Amino acid sequence: MRLAILKILALTACIWLVSCSEKPGEQHAEFFVFGTLMEVTTWGADKQLSRKAFARLHAQFQDMHRDWHAWEPGLLTEINDAFAAGQAVTANPAILELTRRSQEIEEQSGGRFNPAIGGLVRLWGFHTSDYPIEGPPPGKAAIEDLLKQNPSSLDVRIHGQEMSTRNRSVQLDFGGIAKGYATDLAIDTLDQMGISNAIVNAGGDLRAVGRHGDRPWRVAIRDPAGGIIGVVESREDEAIFTSGNYERYRQENNQRYPHILDPRTGWPVEEISSVTVITNEGLLADAAATALIVAGLSEWQDVAYSLNLDKVLLIDENGRVYLTAEMNKRIGFSGKVDKKIIETL
Ligand code: ADP
Ligand code: MG
Repeated sequence: MRLAILKILALTACIWLVSCSEKPGEQHAEFFVFGTLMEVTTWGADKQLSRKAFARLHAQFQDMHRDWHAWEPGLLTEINDAFAAGQAVTANPAILELTRRSQEIEEQSGGRFNPAIGGLVRLWGFHTSDYPIEGPPPGKAAIEDLLKQNPSSLDVRIHGQEMSTRNRSVQLDFGGIAKGYATDLAIDTLDQMGISNAIVNAGGDLRAVGRHGDRPWRVAIRDPAGGIIGVVESREDEAIFTSGNYERYRQENNQRYPHILDPRTGWPVEEISSVTVITNEGLLADAAATALIVAGLSEWQDVAYSLNLDKVLLIDENGRVYLTAEMNKRIGFSGKVDKKIIETL
């Protein structure tokens, strides 16, 4: 039922619903932005002020949806068209910031996070909100053809508000970072309006500030096998993001091809079912969770170190949990888990 409603909502650009099931002290609104239900909850704020804030967030989310969407025609598709044609193009401050930060994270993650692979994402059919996709993977030659053109966000030059690139294969796709930056901007807006206890939840990925009355905000971490694996109590200002391989994928017979691609091979990553990152910024948490899924079991510790992260949890495809000592201090597991704690990164 919820899925059916989400599919109907996916047809509309950005809608806004005020929920009727609020708990005492809470104000709650829901928005549907770039394929995700965004839930904003405030605690202890004046009702009028919360409504005003929700109206402002609605306008902000609409702008993001229009400007950052990877395939619905808007500012980002214009930018990508200009890149493909070898032309310079005027961006806006949010896209410039997404690009600059992406460049840093691409570099720090050794290219495991790479938002310039929009061409590959499209080739795999992942420019859709309608999952799962049925059918075979793209041909090897088409993948190789894109790979050898080596698209990278570091190929993008920024001069003032203008962006350009000499690499015509660069196609920006902020699917791995947009939700994170959206939660940051929403928290900034709430803060500027004097709302200091709030949670902005983008389909289980969230940033939380302040508290829920006399207790911290509590955040459930999903188990790729179903249900929840544990609960984290959020500290003053934290972003908690999970990237998963288990929800959005292509399938053919019994073979699944998840939507997170290894930019070095052009193929989906499979070894890890999910990665959860806690840090103080949504943008970094979101991009890092994507980078760490790509890094996989053999490289995640190096990549986490290089991204300056100390709270990371991975679940492999057999349900085994690997987590840092700092993450272990923060998560209360719901049941018995097969876990390995990494003391030093
Ligand atoms: P989710 O939150 O849905 O688990 P992510 O935050 O990891 O997913 O984002 C996945 C999306 O990011 C893909 O749909 C695609 O648009 C884009 N993407 C896929 N692989 C990469 C990659 N290696 N680096 C950057 N972006 C990617
Ligand atoms: Mg991500």
